[in-house]
Amino acid sequence: MTMLPDLTKTTLALLDATDPLAFKREAFVLPENTIYLDGNSLGAMPKAAAARAHQVLNEQWSQDLIKSWNSHQWIDLPQTVGEKIAPLLGAAPGQVICCDSTSVNLFKVLSCAMLMQPGRTKILSQAGNFPTDLYMVQGLASLLGEQNCQLVLVDDSVDQQALEHAITPEIAVLLLTQVDFRSGRLLDMQRLTQLAHEQGVLVIWDLAHSAGALPIELDAWQVDFAVGCGYKYLNGGPGAPAFLYAASRHHAQLTQPLTGWMGHNTPFSFATAYQKAPGIAQFLSGTPAIIAMSVLDAALAVFDDIDMQDVRYKSLALSHCFHQLVEKQPGLASLALITPLHPNARGSQLAYQHPQAYALCQALIKRGVIADFRAPNILRLGFTPLYLRYVDIGNAVAILADIVNSQEYLKPEYAVKHKVT
Ligand SMILES: *Cc1c(COP(=O)(O)O)cnc(C)c1O
Repeated sequence: MTMLPDLTKTTLALLDATDPLAFKREAFVLPENTIYLDGNSLGAMPKAAAARAHQVLNEQWSQDLIKSWNSHQWIDLPQTVGEKIAPLLGAAPGQVICCDSTSVNLFKVLSCAMLMQPGRTKILSQAGNFPTDLYMVQGLASLLGEQNCQLVLVDDSVDQQALEHAITPEIAVLLLTQVDFRSGRLLDMQRLTQLAHEQGVLVIWDLAHSAGALPIELDAWQVDFAVGCGYKYLNGGPGAPAFLYAASRHHAQLTQPLTGWMGHNTPFSFATAYQKAPGIAQFLSGTPAIIAMSVLDAALAVFDDIDMQDVRYKSLALSHCFHQLVEKQPGLASLALITPLHPNARGSQLAYQHPQAYALCQALIKRGVIADFRAPNILRLGFTPLYLRYVDIGNAVAILADIVNSQEYLKPEYAVKHKVT
């Protein structure tokens, strides 16, 4: 294995020794001999999550059965968890709820926003946005009819001004993902929200790769709606419920389409006519997934005693170190960074293009460095400050260099495609 120069190793160890977040690693279960650079896709498991799962199954469900809805406050979980996520988003109480998936929540807020914009029919988004965001718009357009709803796409991957120029009074809703899932590019949420509002456009932000990774100020930036995942940087576990933010100034006038009984004003009156609950509870549809939501609830405790500015600082520092070390390795010149290097322009991941990115990723995983691949040619590395150490970064780059220099990644076994990449 290619060894890092001693000085670098010493420097990385020193960074760990002075890292204000170093103590957090203890809160997670991390497998031996693994450097996990995929917490942007599925966060690692907090110890508290496992304990809570055990408790919900063995003390609550099995022992207290249906009484638990009241005695263990199961019924309040969507709000309880929403209020725990809210501070991470810069949201005052009463505006964030935990429910369903990001995709489903997107459909709800898209519908609400379109209904608030009579006379406007266009939803503007990025051509490179995460597919589910675009698919949900397409689904809504087919429901409303093409004359009432059209998806307008801008390719902002090269010309970043393109997006700003496309925000016109013709647009009803601007739907953007703050951190691009491929490149890791970070958009200026405050500026784009303001530009949209100047044109009478409502904004929906997808925070899938931002929540728990960087400081966000939804209230201060006057965002209208936002959605995001519970299983990425929030570490809620595979398929964890998502969150939805709707600014309280809009609550009274909203009509969301998935009017299930849990979003009714008085669900247990079993009334025939739907009457929406006031506030953020109107976004609930069906019965919450209590086991999954409890696990997310417990997982969020890791954020209790930390400052998101520290998280952001370390995230940028980890990725900076990674790229610096990559640049020092002549053998890694074939990796082309597509993530903007400016700290204001990147999220918490790095993305490299390489013609053999899939095989490289597989070879890395085999060596205990878990990264991921995004078609057609991107090697993606996520940096999660709560459980990654600086020394991990040094070791990960050394292993990557070894795989490339030895051409180990060209072994046929690494070309076999799996169902989930
Ligand atoms: C991961 C991700 C999603 C996932 O949506 P689900 O409904 O949870 O499958 C949505 N949007 C973006 C931008 C993502 O990165």
